[in-house]
Amino acid sequence: MPEEPAKKKSSSQIKRIITGEEGVNNQEILQILAVGIIVVHVLMVVLYHLMNVWQLSLYNIIVTAYYSYCFNEVRGGKIMKGYLLTFLEIHVQMIFTVFIVGWELGFYAYVLGLIPLYYFLNMFVSEDNDHIFRPLAWSITTVVLFFATYFLGRVFAPVVKLSGAQTSIGFLFNMFFAFQLIIWMSHFFVLIYKKSLVTLEDQNATLDVEASEDPLTKLYNRRTMETSLEKAMEEAKRKGAFFSLVMGDIDFFKKINDTYGHDCGDAALVAVSEILLSCVRDGDIVCRWGGEEFLLLIIGNREAANAVAERIRQRIEENVVEYGGNQVRFTMTLGVSTYAPGYPLDALLAQADENLYYGKEHGRNQVVSLKPQVKSTLKTS
Ligand code: GH3
Ligand code: MG
Ligand code: MG
Repeated sequence: MPEEPAKKKSSSQIKRIITGEEGVNNQEILQILAVGIIVVHVLMVVLYHLMNVWQLSLYNIIVTAYYSYCFNEVRGGKIMKGYLLTFLEIHVQMIFTVFIVGWELGFYAYVLGLIPLYYFLNMFVSEDNDHIFRPLAWSITTVVLFFATYFLGRVFAPVVKLSGAQTSIGFLFNMFFAFQLIIWMSHFFVLIYKKSLVTLEDQNATLDVEASEDPLTKLYNRRTMETSLEKAMEEAKRKGAFFSLVMGDIDFFKKINDTYGHDCGDAALVAVSEILLSCVRDGDIVCRWGGEEFLLLIIGNREAANAVAERIRQRIEENVVEYGGNQVRFTMTLGVSTYAPGYPLDALLAQADENLYYGKEHGRNQVVSLKPQVKSTLKTS
């Protein structure tokens, strides 16, 4: 995908890019690199001019124009083309420099800096970065050219014989800027790597949230609740703590959908979820168990859970959902069950469900925690 041409950067923006504060943009990094390369070549024009090596001075004037072209290509989104031309030029200049002034000027150091650059660009710039052998192949090509140039320098005497001082200055110049290339590429490598880690962490966090909640009501989904129920069971067994379940199902919900439409039904579900959340305390868990059925895990005994369920029933009964100019009212029936030692989770869920359906069969809009026959069994035992 071609990237947008970047706008002109102020110096403080460049500082933020270098420190990674601005967020890292691969294209901006390549532009900084391209500007750096152009500046170094302008300096080379001056250096070779001062050394009276007109061949290299002229070559670098041409190369500066060549890099301005590469820079524009990168700005226009043709990143691959820009850097392939760059690699080509660095190898050509290595050979040409050795031919004109000899190996000792140290131009080869730039070529060493190309090796990490191959891997960097392959990883972060090229679109098909799974070609892991491509940078290896390029590196081998570079190594072959490197040694070939070295032997070329040994076999042929340089065209221009530099003095010892000139050679030292040229060597220091080339080493200094070759180090810059390696240092800054490594620096940006770390920034881009860190950015990709942060992006991955963010994506994972988003995925975690999406996997744990119901998209409509944003309540926990059934899967998350099942994990919470298992944890609550473990805790109850270990510490003997109480917890209760409240299962609620909207009464005649189908009628709301049929009368006012599915979207109105959705709005009702969202309204119910808000009421449920407003009626529980920290530590209690509310989930959309399925369709228009909700399950609450209440940290507390039967009385506490009954009180919560009754509060919910009343609030829903009083609530009005305004939808499409209609005032929609509805009720909810709730079944409660409470953990007792030796009670398995399945039985606890089944009991809440049974109580709920007992309420459905006996008039709806009510909370059932003990069915009459259970109450009488408890009284007589
Ligand atoms: P009862 O009082 O016996 O519970 O009657 P009911 O109509 O509420 O029960 P029933 O199980 O027959 O209907 C539940 C309906 O809930 C059927 C289904 O279309 C609807 N429903 C389930 N999930 C959604 C949803 O996400 N959005 C909407 N709008 N409706 C849903
Ligand atoms: Mg229902
Ligand atoms: Mg139902």
